[in-house]
Amino acid sequence: LHLFGTERLNSKGLDLSDAVQLSEIGKDVQKFANEGWHGAPIIGGIEQTGATHPVMSPSDRRNKVGEIAWASTEQAQNALARADRAWWGWDQTSATARGDCLDRMADLLEENTAEFIALCMREAGKTTADAIAEIREAVDFCRYYAVKCRQDFGDPLVMPGPTGERNELSMHGRGVFLCISPWNFPLAIFLGQVSAALAAGNAVIAKPAEQTGLVAVRAIKLFHQAGVPGDVLHLLPGDGPTVAGPLLADDRIKGVAFTGSTETAKLIQRALAAREGEIVPLIAETGGQNAMIVDSTALPEQIVRDVLASSFQSAGQRCSALRVLFLQEDVADKILTMLAGAMDELTVGDSSFLSTDVGPVIDEDALTMLNAHISHMKSQAKVIRELSLPSSTSNGAFVAPVTFEIEGLHQLKQEVFGPVLHVIRYKASELDSIIDQINNSGFGLTLGIHSRIDETVDYIARRVRVGNTYVNRNQIGAIVGVQPFGGMGLSGTGPKAGGPRYLHRFATEHSISIDT
Ligand code: GLU
Repeated sequence: LHLFGTERLNSKGLDLSDAVQLSEIGKDVQKFANEGWHGAPIIGGIEQTGATHPVMSPSDRRNKVGEIAWASTEQAQNALARADRAWWGWDQTSATARGDCLDRMADLLEENTAEFIALCMREAGKTTADAIAEIREAVDFCRYYAVKCRQDFGDPLVMPGPTGERNELSMHGRGVFLCISPWNFPLAIFLGQVSAALAAGNAVIAKPAEQTGLVAVRAIKLFHQAGVPGDVLHLLPGDGPTVAGPLLADDRIKGVAFTGSTETAKLIQRALAAREGEIVPLIAETGGQNAMIVDSTALPEQIVRDVLASSFQSAGQRCSALRVLFLQEDVADKILTMLAGAMDELTVGDSSFLSTDVGPVIDEDALTMLNAHISHMKSQAKVIRELSLPSSTSNGAFVAPVTFEIEGLHQLKQEVFGPVLHVIRYKASELDSIIDQINNSGFGLTLGIHSRIDETVDYIARRVRVGNTYVNRNQIGAIVGVQPFGGMGLSGTGPKAGGPRYLHRFATEHSISIDT
């Protein structure tokens, strides 16, 4: 029994290879197949009213998932005023009580797994396997931060000092935290940020991505059911500039957790720096231009399996996903032939079918951007394989997985957030130059290495500056408490989500020295 250094186990999730579990999940999820969800801002534990927006399925834009009311600027101000009054009481609540709320939240998520699978599939276009992994990760975040909360925010650390003096160091919340989360992990990253901010003793205003507000609404209701007071946790679905813009300009926001693009992170940083008041932390997890380096000693079947998962699982919509595969030239033709064959086996389709490997991308905007990139690449790169889309996908936002061979990293100007892989051949003598290319991109999120030579692995891992390196395996799906996740450089500020030091950045420290 391995407890990952803490007094808890990661969630087992559901096992799709177990026929009994599979049929049970299928039946439970089916109950929500025609559910029409309704969501609205939640302020002080109460659902608000407002102009509603229809939520359509990315798999089929004729299929309505539900509707959601977006928050107004006035509602955002109301939430902030209430959170600002409530945070100190929450900070004074014992770490044990806060940790218990997070543990209860994890239990409630598990009890409502079927509904969350259905919601993630329908609102976010997740495949069944991705939806299951998403819920498992959300559960893990809650339980992991519950443990860290009790460990680090419970009894103060006793520091050394001379006889007659008692020195203690304790950690506390900062005030109101604004958590701005992305659509690609509408439950896991959303709850990862919120649970961390709460664990550290902050009140939270959560602003989910416009595309996935319904998942967030269900999650926040459960958090209140788990015991987090209404005024300590508010939800403001809606449009970024309307909702988050004025909040970022307000000195009562004492910190921001953000996952999304590097450009938006910089906008947030500028907005925070432009305020009159104190300097506050921004915890940003942003993009990547993730590479995998494969040398000629690596195992071909393993490479193909791991490239396929890293590039095309979740339709490539992970920050961690593989974008640039560097293949040593003496094995490149063989690997590319095998990869093209393996791509042919992928099933692209509606996320509600169990057989689907690659579901839709999130919306029309993503589709347009990806299609523009793909046609641009066709004019200047060689197509190794492009799948064709089945006719059943014609009403959704689908991109057929495609692999291009390009000359160098300079051909990629920005992160391409979809099922598009770029391959570059290299000679053994060029290893240093490709390492420089990767480092010069400025991003530093994930790196894959496939090699059977320990010295090569060690050399590359030491020289490439990234947050997460994966050797002889795929490079996605970091596990909470096992592979703390987050990048460096243009890829983010740290500390790593699901890691032992994440909560600290949400907190302040207080040293008290008493002459006894
Ligand atoms: N933690 C996720 C993974 O390891 C990626 C998170 C993201 O896409 O922001 O695949």
